Amino acid sequence: MIIVLKSHATPAERDGIIQRIEELGLKPHVSEGEERTIIGVVGDDRGIDAGPFEALSGVDRIVPILRPYKLASRDFKPDATRITLGNDVVIGGPKIAVMAGPCAVESREQLLQTARAVKAAGATLLRGGAFKPRTSPYAFQGMAEDGLKLLAEARAETGLPIVTEVMSPGDVELVAKYADVLQVGARNMQNFNLLRECGSAGKPVLIKRGLSATLEELCLAAEYVLAQGNRQVMLCERGIRTFEKATRNTLDLSAVPVLKEWTHLPIVADPSHGTGKRSLVPSMTLASIAAGADALIIEVHPNPERAMSDGPQSLTFDQFTKLMQQARAVAAAVGRTL
Ligand code: PEP
Ligand code: MN
Repeated sequence: MIIVLKSHATPAERDGIIQRIEELGLKPHVSEGEERTIIGVVGDDRGIDAGPFEALSGVDRIVPILRPYKLASRDFKPDATRITLGNDVVIGGPKIAVMAGPCAVESREQLLQTARAVKAAGATLLRGGAFKPRTSPYAFQGMAEDGLKLLAEARAETGLPIVTEVMSPGDVELVAKYADVLQVGARNMQNFNLLRECGSAGKPVLIKRGLSATLEELCLAAEYVLAQGNRQVMLCERGIRTFEKATRNTLDLSAVPVLKEWTHLPIVADPSHGTGKRSLVPSMTLASIAAGADALIIEVHPNPERAMSDGPQSLTFDQFTKLMQQARAVAAAVGRTL
């Protein structure tokens, strides 16, 4: 349930409510909104009704949350969450963030060249995997910590914050040392120990939708991170597995407005993995902006034909630069900037 406080509730009344929640063995999550404070009551609250809270001073009303996720829901936090990185990158505001870069960090030259090119084209973050979840154990698995060091070097040169994947709970501390945003990949969306560990890492987390996960399951994955006290979570639609073979995955664009209705978290769209084909990335990027995405994640490579992973869906520098120009026009048409 959530407890909505009266608009003039005092700090002492708020503390009294928090104390009562804790006495019942539940956890309070306070959200200070522009107009009033809302306290999410989290934990096993089956069997506890509104009774113990209704009569407390400062309480306006009790709202049961019918969705299985609470902290991620719009009922708990009506205002959109904004995630700030450094001084000037905000994800979830009117400006659409663009995370661009190679699928995998392959070499110093490949990464630095790409970082410079995407920065010049107007990207807001640099992406690149150092730990790669590959379907085949024989495929390139990533440069691990050496790759993270190169990402940090690219950030130092370009000023772009970095988003990179962490695959196992034991690596969270290491990846968090370098990354600005921790990416939980589609194949790990329900790795609950990894999600919990990311929840305690003190860095924003980008969770990609599992290959056959429902949107409710995606929101519950976010709930694992949020329940650890980390409020900086964004969700990513990256295509799901369907019977259709024309594309690598089926980019479920309706997920964007659905998630915007259900949650306050920023929503990212990934037209690269969503289609698997370079020729389809521009149209699905523009469509993602029109659908309301707060951020985009796009794979770019200096020489896609030689890429060690996801070459067929990676854009060249020229293609990315051109796409950014088109994207600006669509963003303006829907009242946003890029
Ligand atoms: C990636 O971003 O390169 C990646 C592996 O994504 P996903 O987990 O969506 O497949
Ligand atoms: Mn990839």
